[in-house]
This record gives sequence, structure tokens and C-alpha cells, in this order.
Amino acid sequence: MKSDRPAAPQLTYRERIPAAPHLTPSGNCSDCGVPHVLAGEGCYKVCPKCYCVLWHYDWFGKEKKLEEARRKQLEKTDKERRAAKLAELTKKKEESEKKPEEPPPKPDSVL
Ligand SMILES: [Zn+2]
Repeated sequence: MKSDRPAAPQLTYRERIPAAPHLTPSGNCSDCGVPHVLAGEGCYKVCPKCYCVLWHYDWFGKEKKLEEARRKQLEKTDKERRAAKLAELTKKKEESEKKPEEPPPKPDSVL
């Protein structure tokens, strides 16, 4: 039996791509072994031989910390606002409960 479908394409495999150079604990390029240089006002650590960016400043981490601080501040102010509102409501409730007990002032005694 002959099939009308075209033959399945041959699978091709590429060689595994080596990992990018990285910063070693001693501060050298993992591929070249030379010490890094600072670039971009200290935001980047670059290999002077292969020009690979070995490290960069964590801008997202800084933004995350700022966002966390803002959220905590908002939660704190929200708690304070709720506590103030609750205190106000309880005070009003106590005042409204006291009112019926107080006798109304007699107009005769004033005169
Ligand atoms: Zn390098």
C-alpha cells in the first residue's frame, strides 16, 4: 500500500549550545579567566576580553522592595483608619445608649 501523505521530515539535532560566560566567585570571567571591569556607572560587570556582561544590577529586586514597603505602609494606614473608625462608631453607640437614661431638662426648674 502506498500512502498519499508525504514522508515525515528527518529529525535533525544541533550540537548543544554551551552556557554563557558567568561571573565566578573570585570575580573573573568563567571562560576567559580575566577579572571583570565595571561599566555603565557600576551597573554592569563586563569581561574585558570577550565583552560578555557577567553581572548587572538587580533593578527589579529594588522595585520589588520598594513595592513591598509601599504595600506595608498602606496596610498600616488602613489598619489605623479602621481602628479610628471603629473607635468613633463605638463612641457614638455608647452616646446613643446613654441618651435615653438622662432625664430631659424640666422647663419649670429653669425658670
Ligand atoms: Zn570573558
